[in-house]
Amino acid sequence: MNVLIAGGGVAALEAMVALRSLAGDRVDVGLLAPDSDFFYRPLSVAEPFGAGQAHRFDLRSLAQGCGAWHALGSLVAVDGGRRSVRTSQGATFGYDVLLLAVGARPREAIPGALTFRGQLDVPALRALLRDLDEGLVQRVVFALPGGVTWPLPLYELALLTADHLARTGNTLAELAVVTPEEAPLGILDGEASEAVADELDRRGIELATGAYPASFEGGELRLVPGTSIPADRVVSLPRLRGVPIAGVPQDGDFFVPTDATGLVSGLADVYAAGDITTFSIKQGGLAAQQADAVAEAIAARAGAPVTPRPFDPVLRGLLLTGSLPLYVRAELSGGRGESSTVASDALWWPPGKIAARHLAPYLARYAGLAYSPAAVS
Ligand SMILES: Cc1cc2nc3c(=O)[nH]c(=O)nc-3n(C[C@H](O)[C@H](O)[C@H](O)COP(=O)(O)OP(=O)(O)OC[C@H]3O[C@@H](n4cnc5c(N)ncnc54)[C@H](O)[C@@H]3O)c2cc1C
Repeated sequence: MNVLIAGGGVAALEAMVALRSLAGDRVDVGLLAPDSDFFYRPLSVAEPFGAGQAHRFDLRSLAQGCGAWHALGSLVAVDGGRRSVRTSQGATFGYDVLLLAVGARPREAIPGALTFRGQLDVPALRALLRDLDEGLVQRVVFALPGGVTWPLPLYELALLTADHLARTGNTLAELAVVTPEEAPLGILDGEASEAVADELDRRGIELATGAYPASFEGGELRLVPGTSIPADRVVSLPRLRGVPIAGVPQDGDFFVPTDATGLVSGLADVYAAGDITTFSIKQGGLAAQQADAVAEAIAARAGAPVTPRPFDPVLRGLLLTGSLPLYVRAELSGGRGESSTVASDALWWPPGKIAARHLAPYLARYAGLAYSPAAVS
């Protein structure tokens, strides 16, 4: 079976490794992606603070190590009848089964704020830290826009900035978090959310919940409805939008609807996984779990002795705090975590930032990414 995977991120690579493990040589697997590298994005939050480095892996080597191939190209159209895809450069690739794992695009949500999208924004955050060090900036607000479903990186940036201030003996600067959530990391009800609130409190970070930040101008972060709070700088996260693909059903934001096995509505041989799907929480561990459900479904179709299991989301997050990292875990029900657990010892293995059953051990073993909480706290 010729399996074409569009994408070279978490969901694509998890599916690639899972397929090789589940279906062996019943499948020929290829990756079609516009970049020659895979960026391990979650560690980019640690980089401005010198507490870790975002890793970059050569996609071709990752594919080859798994008996797959990699071609450069951006998928723009799918012809479900002919079972072929077209790239922006006009090349075509055939498939028996196609997996769309093209991720989502970050968009600025709070005009005037520093929108942290990952690697690209590390220099801007470093510059902000320098301004804090030199006393040019005193009050930084970390603002979560409405509609961002995985806020953990914003809490990490706030806590790591507080740790930076403590290390540099800066007692004048003030930090605040403003969020529409009812409680910090409110998607994880219970223990985990309380642990994050405690961390913020312990670091002296002000917290305003139930507030929608809208824009930042003239030293004021405007909130909806009506009020505003003072800030010298505002740091935010992006809102996400899907990628337009001709021939594929998509919602108004270009996200792709699937069933619980990842099959795209109305297309018999096309699956989707990760941030590109309409599943509301855009998170790497969940992208990997979606990819696992797809890989099992495809492996079974290819004749492998596998009983496919539907996507049954469990949130696993590793919060960098500046001291001991916190591992948080919650079963998901209706989009919110129920009875979350928090621990300072690993709740999964290998204890990576992205909990991915097949990809995490593959990166650790093949590419030498052994995450050490001591190295990145
Ligand atoms: C700052 C930050 C910190 C984060 N921290 C965490 C964390 O701690 N834990 C966690 O689990 N998640 C975290 N996330 C979220 C996580 O990075 C994403 O949810 C995850 O990467 C989604 O995986 P994906 O495969 O769907 O998309 P991506 O990983 O974004 O991969 C998409 C891939 O598709 C390729 N592509 C794009 N367009 C096309 C096209 N037209 N044709 C072919 N290929 C295409 C891209 O080049 C890329 O290779 C964080 C995100 C950010 C921004």
